[in-house]
Amino acid sequence: MDREQGRSAIVAGAGIGGLAAAIGLLRAGWTVTVLERAPQLREAGAGWSFAPNALRAADALGVGAEFRACSVPTEAGATMRLPGGEYLMRFQPGADVPLLANHRADLQRVLARHVPADRIRAGAEVTGVHQDGDGVTVTCRDGTEMTAGLLVGADGLHSTVRRRVWPDTPEPVFQRILCWRGVTKPGSAWPVSGFQTWGRGARFGAHPLTGERVFWFLTVRQEQPGARFADDLEEVRARTRGWHDPIPALLAATPHEAVLRHDIYDLDPLPSYVQGRVVLLGDAAHAMTPFLAQGACQALEDAAVLAAEAAGPVPESLARYDRLRRPRTQQVQRMARTDPRLSLSTTPATYRLMTAMTRLASSGVARRKSARLWDWTPPLVHTGK
Ligand SMILES: Cc1cc2nc3c(=O)[nH]c(=O)nc-3n(C[C@H](O)[C@H](O)[C@H](O)COP(=O)(O)OP(=O)(O)OC[C@H]3O[C@@H](n4cnc5c(N)ncnc54)[C@H](O)[C@@H]3O)c2cc1C
Repeated sequence: MDREQGRSAIVAGAGIGGLAAAIGLLRAGWTVTVLERAPQLREAGAGWSFAPNALRAADALGVGAEFRACSVPTEAGATMRLPGGEYLMRFQPGADVPLLANHRADLQRVLARHVPADRIRAGAEVTGVHQDGDGVTVTCRDGTEMTAGLLVGADGLHSTVRRRVWPDTPEPVFQRILCWRGVTKPGSAWPVSGFQTWGRGARFGAHPLTGERVFWFLTVRQEQPGARFADDLEEVRARTRGWHDPIPALLAATPHEAVLRHDIYDLDPLPSYVQGRVVLLGDAAHAMTPFLAQGACQALEDAAVLAAEAAGPVPESLARYDRLRRPRTQQVQRMARTDPRLSLSTTPATYRLMTAMTRLASSGVARRKSARLWDWTPPLVHTGK
C-alpha cells in the first residue's frame, strides 16, 4: 500500500458518529470517504439533548460554536414532575447545568457542512469487509470496491461492519421499552423550558428547539418489539390523559406525520472495538438505551478521541482508542441499561419508592451524579498533514 492509501479512511455511515469521525480525521490530515446507505442524508428524525461532555467533544472537533448555534438550553435534565404536575425536583439557575437540545436534522446539516460534499457518497451501502495486512477493502451493494488504510464502522445499532468483522457478537437486545417522539409546529406551543414527567411505567419529556419548536418523547414499558397502533399520536394522548400542562398542548401542536415510534434496543458490551484496521464508533460499538441521553454524546467523544489518536501509526493508535473508549462507554452503556429497570418500573411499590427518593434527594444529589457522568476531558486533536 502506498503512503497516500495508508492515511486514507473509509467511514461507513453518515449519522452523527460517522460525520463527527470524518470531521476529526479530516482535521488530523486524513483523506476521508464517507459511505452512507441512504439515498441522501436524512433530514428526518426528531430532537435530542446533549450534555457538557458532548459540547467539549464538539469543541475539540472544531464545531462547538455551530453546535451551540443550532441548540437551545433545556432544563429537562433537572426538572422532574409527576403526572398531576407536582415537582419532584426543579432546575435551579446558577446551580444546575442546562443541557442543549437540537433537532437531529439541524445538527446533521451543521456537521455535514464540515465534510466536502464530494467526500460523502450517499446510496453506498457497505455489504462486505476484507482485510489483508496493511489495507482494508469494503464492498458496496452495487459491487463497487474501495481500499483504504482505515475503516471506521459508524453504521449504527445494526452495523454491517460489526457483523462482518465480529461475526460472533450477539445481536442487539430488546430492552422492553417503546418510545414515541414528536416535534411541534413552530410557535404553536411556546415557550417551554424543558421538563420530564414520571408516570408509573411511562416517562414523558420535552425540550425547546430552535424556531420555537418543542421536541417531546414518551417512553413506556412494552413486552414485545414490533407493536403497531392505529394512530400513534392518539395512543400517546391516551397514555398521558389527565397529565399536567403543557403536555396536552404539546400533543395538540404536533402534526400526526411528525410522530416517530421506536423499539429500544441496546448492545451487550463488546470484547473489543478494534480489529486490525477496522474500528467501531457510536452505536455500532456501544448502542445504549436513551435513558441517560448519552448515545450521541458518546459517539462525539469517540470521534474526538479517534481524531487525536489517528496522528500515530494505525495499529497502535487504534489499540489506544480501544483502551480509552471501551471502559467509559461500557460503563455508560451499563448504567443506561440499569436505569429504566427502576425508573420505568410498572410495580406500584417501586414507583412510589423511586419518586419518594427523587423528592428527598433534591437536585444536588442528581447534580453530583450527572457531574460524574459528564466528567470527561477531551484530547487535543492535532491538525494538519
Ligand atoms: C428514542 C431515542 C432517543 C435518544 N435521545 C438521545 C439524546 O437525547 N441524547 C443522546 O446523546 N443520544 C440520544 N439517543 C441515542 C442516539 O440517537 C444515538 O446514540 C446516535 O444517533 C448514534 O449515532 P451513530 O452515528 O452511531 O448511528 P446512527 O445515527 O444510527 O447512524 C448510522 C448511519 O449509518 C448508516 N448505515 C447503516 N448501515 C449502513 C451500511 N451498511 N452502509 C453504509 N451506511 C450505513 C445509516 O443510514 C445511518 O445514517 C437517542 C436514541 C433513541 C433511540
